Amino acid sequence: MDGLMKGKRGLIMGVANDHSIAWGIARKLAEHGADLAFTYQGDAFGRRVKPLAEKVGSDLLFPCDVEDSASIDGVFDGLKEAWGSLDFIVHAIGFSDRNELKGLYANTTRENFVRTMVISCYSFTEVARKAAELMENGGQMLTLTYAGSTRVMPNYNVMGVAKAGLEASVRYLASDYGPRNIRVNAISAGPVRTLAGAGISDARYMFSYQQRNAPLRRTVVIDEIGGSALYLLSDLSSGVTGEIHYVDSGYNTVSMPTMEELKR
Ligand code: NAD
Repeated sequence: MDGLMKGKRGLIMGVANDHSIAWGIARKLAEHGADLAFTYQGDAFGRRVKPLAEKVGSDLLFPCDVEDSASIDGVFDGLKEAWGSLDFIVHAIGFSDRNELKGLYANTTRENFVRTMVISCYSFTEVARKAAELMENGGQMLTLTYAGSTRVMPNYNVMGVAKAGLEASVRYLASDYGPRNIRVNAISAGPVRTLAGAGISDARYMFSYQQRNAPLRRTVVIDEIGGSALYLLSDLSSGVTGEIHYVDSGYNTVSMPTMEELKR
């Protein structure tokens, strides 16, 4: 199993710190032999991402703000120069104004709706298009989503709408690039305490509710999301594309709280 990603080169987008889901994925991929490059959003994050990248033997880092197409182009120009080709990408990027991650979804502003969509949904399509140019021998693409895309989660609001669009993008991109043996999938992760997760109002209640009511009676850790990413980005999943794979202790499969919860 050690060499599952040996000789594979990939880009990790979305590490903010060592709690980030993207970091859990990067660590797992590096353990299995992958060569990694990273993006970071601005200098402050860059100072945190650089030592993490070094821990997994990477010195290939690019600044990237996905609101700016030129910034995305810069990343892929840099990768082309450094590596020539690319085997996989991980897109673990999401943002919405935290003032709108509470209260009624109906109050979402036009400005924040568009910004949330551009950063949390469209950026995957733009990045996929650029990455595909460097994937002449096939490849894998992975993004991160959340169950608020298909069911209403309190306060998730416009992020749920963006994640619904992101999941549809996964299917369309899988169809576009399948003939070139480029596979496109998403992991729908259960709640994890991260910077982005903390932006959702009352997230701690959702977190503890899922701990009590998921079939495994706990939430997931980033290492477990990394393990599933390893499967989706390696040849182990060579027949899988266009999928939304839940890594959430089984929470999405239940329709009711546990009896213990009902009797609380
Ligand atoms: P995180 O805060 O560690 O990572 C979010 C990343 O998005 C950060 O690295 C940030 O720099 C980046 N980002 C935001 N706006 C950007 C922009 N304009 N340009 C470039 N990068 C930008 O949080 P996380 O929870 O690890 O989030 C990673 C992904 O996982 C997100 O898509 C999130 O929606 C998704 N997700 C999170 C949870 C959870 O409970 N934490 C659950 C399911 C899915």
